[in-house]
Amino acid sequence: MARGTLTIVERRSRVEAAREALAGLGEVLGQASGAELGELMGVVDDVAAQACAARVAVTVEAARRGECTGAGVHGWVREHAPSLRQGGAGPVAALVREVTAADTGLARVEPDPGSPVGLVWAAVTTGTVAAGTATAVLREVDRLAPLLRPEAVPTVTAALVDLATEWGPTVMRRLRPRLLADHGRHGVLDDLHHRLEGAARLSMPHVESADLTEYQLWMTPEQATALEAAIGPLSAPAPNPETGERDLRPAGQRRVEALTEVCRRSSTRDADQAGADGAAGSPAAVHVTITLTDLEHRTGAAEVLGSAATATLLPPEALRRIACDAALVPHVLGTHGEHLDQGRVARLFTRAQRRRLWLRDRGCTYPGCTAPAAWTRAHHLTHWADGGPSDITNAALLCQHHHTTVHRRRLAAHTTPTPDPHGRHVHWDLTDGSYDRHLAHQRKRAPGDPPPRPPTPLHHAHIGAPDHHDDLELWWAELTDDDWTLPAA
Ligand SMILES: [Zn+2]
Ligand SMILES: [Zn+2]
Repeated sequence: MARGTLTIVERRSRVEAAREALAGLGEVLGQASGAELGELMGVVDDVAAQACAARVAVTVEAARRGECTGAGVHGWVREHAPSLRQGGAGPVAALVREVTAADTGLARVEPDPGSPVGLVWAAVTTGTVAAGTATAVLREVDRLAPLLRPEAVPTVTAALVDLATEWGPTVMRRLRPRLLADHGRHGVLDDLHHRLEGAARLSMPHVESADLTEYQLWMTPEQATALEAAIGPLSAPAPNPETGERDLRPAGQRRVEALTEVCRRSSTRDADQAGADGAAGSPAAVHVTITLTDLEHRTGAAEVLGSAATATLLPPEALRRIACDAALVPHVLGTHGEHLDQGRVARLFTRAQRRRLWLRDRGCTYPGCTAPAAWTRAHHLTHWADGGPSDITNAALLCQHHHTTVHRRRLAAHTTPTPDPHGRHVHWDLTDGSYDRHLAHQRKRAPGDPPPRPPTPLHHAHIGAPDHHDDLELWWAELTDDDWTLPAA
């Protein structure tokens, strides 16, 4: 008999028969074969899922008929579904309120099937998603919706339902950055990243008597990427080169020893060279994949490869900032995921160029900043992703703080061959977005001008990397070469 032709009385008697069949099932399980146990589990699970869906449907009906006045929907559920008193009545009530929200008086208005509530409701009524998961999805949609492109809300809701069905709400939330990268409003991941910067921190050391010193560390994706790139190669298991003995240190120990080694190397170098090399001298290679479209339009996100930070997403502005001073190895993908760029170390200033910058700029070039050259990084005035070459005329030293400022506020500067009366070669335009105006102006060139650089990284991916060294190893050796010292001022 088709489901639709059963009356409520017939259905109720079948439900009661099912209840009877389930009660005391354990006593006869010995009669089932192993394979039958698996099949039985599937059926029981299905019944349980359908029962959950029915519980919500019954509550919706009761709410619409005004049966829940008095104790409210929540109280009604607790009274009539005693098993939910242990937990679970809240999500059922919350979901029912969402579904009946559009009702006006006694007129029932079903949720729009394309709306988040409609999509989630469809999954609940088929027993695919439990009420608790459904409300978690709706909360997540509420949180994400203001950050998404409006037309992407149904797609994201459907993706969240799938993720939550398959993996549960926790994994669903973990994929928030990916969903924002793919469907978020322009710049939203960067804004989020900027807010994270305010929350990132390293605790003071905590030590109990002669025990281990304990730190707590919270990092932005960008910071974690830098850390993992720095300690990654050093934390790999290292068999004894002479005896071939295996490295039995656990991963945690290898990682902390690698971190200590990085710190030690950096402080030794500072002491040896009196800060001459500084932060800019030891960029760690960061491998990322990004699509060409995302790179050019500052959309989406770059995914980190090849370190423990793998799958970390870097927002577009963070990527551009890193590109200024870390050995970024971009693996640029086409629209269909094809590999466009072989992932060569790109666009860093050479040692000789940086030496000249130290002489020219002396320190951070941001107006009013007195940070010395040792604290600075070389910034590309026209970003690498926009075709900016690694030429001295396209460079300015900036301290870490102002480097972030310049990228976040999208500020432009130009350089002059001769200094102004204050001795400055770099002149900043401190109005927000000046970089975009400068770029638009640059691209709208007058007829007869030389053609602009193509806005793809493919044709200049190697600019700035020393042309006689394509090999990362050799190039690395050059970067860390200890003869790079600041000429006496
Ligand atoms: Zn920069
Ligand atoms: Zn500064």
